[in-house]
This record gives sequence, structure tokens and C-alpha cells, in this order.
Amino acid sequence: MRIILLGAPASGKGSVGERIREEYGFPKISTGDLLREAVRKKTSLGLKAETQLGKGGLVDDDIVLGLLRERLGNPDCHAGYILDGFPRNLSQAQSLAALDGQRRELVFEIQVREDVLVKRISGRRICPSCEAIFNIHTKRPRREGICDVCGAKLLQRNDDRAELIPARKETYRTKTEPLTSYYGEKGILCKVDGNGTVEETLRPIKTVIDEELGKTGGKRIQL
Ligand code: AMP
Repeated sequence: MRIILLGAPASGKGSVGERIREEYGFPKISTGDLLREAVRKKTSLGLKAETQLGKGGLVDDDIVLGLLRERLGNPDCHAGYILDGFPRNLSQAQSLAALDGQRRELVFEIQVREDVLVKRISGRRICPSCEAIFNIHTKRPRREGICDVCGAKLLQRNDDRAELIPARKETYRTKTEPLTSYYGEKGILCKVDGNGTVEETLRPIKTVIDEELGKTGGKRIQL
């Protein structure tokens, strides 16, 4: 099983994906996290990505695909995985189908109102060490500015700065949103309301995943 999460920046893909991981045991793969990690570690793909990341546009497909291919080769992806932030354009969707096309696929588009997105982006803080996500308006850490999970100092993501928001929205509208028609035509797209809490967004997603697992005789993985 492959679960793909689509949605505008800060629509909740990371938080919802994390809850799906907790519920079902599939690893959650965020290409944004893979890129940030590669840049931090100065790997050859990271060095190539560095100049493109954090500008509001997309990083070249071959860099992202290189990182994803490596990650999907990990044995923990064998039974299934959750993709957060990939694919982000039609050509990536086609590459994914070529790379690992036999899998059952479910695609969720998390739909969130504009005013909610702006609040989430401006309040988002991430842990640079374990990638945990917080929000100063809606999901405050227990100690201000400190990660609840690992104790590292929380940061605002470089690309969450107000001046980059229009470019990111435009990238989503022109490059990523067309994927909803692509997956819609395949009959595997579910639209979910993402304006509420993570648990509220998760509920209909779980219903669809449970139904699919029931149909295919699949099962949750014990964590
Ligand atoms: P995210 O953490 O998903 O918001 O991604 C942060 C940034 O990483 C994006 O704004 C893009 O520049 C880049 N990125 C993440 N995933 C992809 C992808 N699938 N294709 C191209 N660029 C990506």
C-alpha cells in the first residue's frame, strides 16, 4: 500500500502523515525532510539541492527522485509507505509509477482554507534534530521554543517566512494541484477537510485506509 498526501504548504500533510504512521506502522517519507537532511549532511545530492531549497519553487526532479529511490530501497518500505510532499508535479507522479507501479495506492488531498493556511505557516516551528512539528498558535511545545520530543531548540523553517508564501502557493497551484485531476481520473483520490484538528482530519482517512486494507487482506504493521 502507498498513501500519498497532497495539499498546499502547511495543510497538515506532515502531522497527519505522522498519525497515519503511528496508527498503521507504515513509514512516513517526506521529501522536504530528505532534502533538508541531505543539505545538512552535505551529501552530493544535498550540495546540488542547497541552492534551490528554501526559495519557494521546486527542487529538480532528478535530485528528489535520487533521494526517494534511495529511501524506498530501505526494507521498512516493503509493506507500504506514506508520501508527504511527493509527487509535486506530473512528471514525478509518472516517475513514481515507473519506479514502484505495482502497489495499491490511495491519495488524499487535504483541503484547507486560505486564512487557516496563513496562520499555520506563520506559527509553524520545527525541530531541526528530530523533525517534530509544533505551532505557536495551535500546538505549543511544553517549554517555549524547545522540542518536546528531543529537547532541541525549535526553529522557524527558512521557507515559512512571509515573503516566500506567495511563491510557494503559486508553485502549488500551477505544478502540484493538477495532480488532483491525474489521481481523480484514476479513481483513487479522496478529498478531506483539513481545517480542523489533526484528529478530525485523520478520521475519514482512517475509514478509507481500513476499508482498503480490509479489501486487500492487508494488515497494520506492529510498531
Ligand atoms: P516541504 O517540507 O514538503 O514543504 O518541502 C520544502 C521544500 O522542499 C519545497 O518548497 C521544495 O522546494 C522542496 N521539495 C520538497 N519535496 C519536493 C518534491 N517532491 N519535488 C521538488 N521539490 C520538493
